[in-house]
Amino acid sequence: MSHTSVLHPETEAILQEASRISKKGIQTYADPKLTAHASVRLAKHAEPLHYIRYRPDQQDVRDYLIAHECGHIIRVFSTAPEQRKIATIPSNFRKFLYDNSDIRQYMLPDSLMAELESAMASAYKHYDSIIGLLTDGPADVHIEQWIHDSYSTLREIQKRTLPQQAALTYVSLVNRLHQATRKMHRTEATLVYALSRKLGRIIENLEIAEHFRELADEQNAEYMQRALAEVGDRGHIGDVDTTNRWARYLGLENWFEWSEWKSGN
Ligand SMILES: [Zn+2]
Repeated sequence: MSHTSVLHPETEAILQEASRISKKGIQTYADPKLTAHASVRLAKHAEPLHYIRYRPDQQDVRDYLIAHECGHIIRVFSTAPEQRKIATIPSNFRKFLYDNSDIRQYMLPDSLMAELESAMASAYKHYDSIIGLLTDGPADVHIEQWIHDSYSTLREIQKRTLPQQAALTYVSLVNRLHQATRKMHRTEATLVYALSRKLGRIIENLEIAEHFRELADEQNAEYMQRALAEVGDRGHIGDVDTTNRWARYLGLENWFEWSEWKSGN
């Protein structure tokens, strides 16, 4: 391992805290296959380790990314097991088209099959993105606030990383403009806009939300920010509550479901 394997003391402290609260070990590593900047896989029942991955090209902001993912571990595991919920995609949601390629092949010529596959892949990309924003967004905001308020070194990395992430999100959104209905695209943009307004306020840089304004529904975004403020930071339970309010307001209640931690996969 090179010198880059040394984490900042603030990050080490957060890792220890997450480990203490969850009573599990945490393994962090760079993963070139990752599309997000970073992600965490929470240890299930008998598993000894959580896994935090980050993209190798994010090495220089790794401390901050790891701290953020630890925030998810801390929020979920500070909550009693019976009150922990994991957002999951309904098992039958993708089933029809995915499981019935023989039906599709029967119905469609190869040329249209290929078009359908790529159209569905685009729609699913929007879908995944919307569900991610909806179910992780509230926790993300509170985690960023926590990093900002408690860790001065990480705060500096946060200050430059969030604008970069917002710029990348904008490029990705604009590139996918014509790959879904206007409504679908607007919903994704509205979630991004509301979240980046909140994040912008935390790092005192509202500029990061500005490019999303024209793509978003401002009234819906306004509601989402109000719901976040109304619920406040009540840990994982509050995060689930906020997600449910957003989903109800945006008409997305049936797009995902919560499973209980204990019955967990
Ligand atoms: Zn997150």
